[in-house]
Amino acid sequence: MYMQGKRITPEQGKVYQNKGGGEFLCIESFDGSAVMQNTASRWTFKAHGVTQYEDGTVEWDYSTRGHFERWLKRCRLCETHFDFSTLIVNKCGGEWALGLRGGTIRNISDEDRVYFCPECGRKLTDEDFRGNGGRKK
Ligand SMILES: [Zn+2]
Repeated sequence: MYMQGKRITPEQGKVYQNKGGGEFLCIESFDGSAVMQNTASRWTFKAHGVTQYEDGTVEWDYSTRGHFERWLKRCRLCETHFDFSTLIVNKCGGEWALGLRGGTIRNISDEDRVYFCPECGRKLTDEDFRGNGGRKK
């Protein structure tokens, strides 16, 4: 069956079904290409010329830089470069709770920031705090 396809730029953090089979998580997206990872094997590569079909499946013209990702544990936050400066740990009604920081992210104190990813437990570095003047690449 012939299906109409259109060029797309995959969305970061979204999982796509490959036309030929398999699920692929978009880790990082660029204009017309994206770093994709097979959610089962963790084979990770840059997909160029991504086309999406009417049924939602995708395929790409070719891929480069294929490798197996070292992280063994899947973490949706870390894989999609979540900005951990939006998280706040504060006392709410006498109990410690994890919340989302509202408004402009500024002046994050050592007391209310998170030190580890709440999803996978990875120790966070400056790069994980983009909103707090953290170095970004
Ligand atoms: Zn994580």
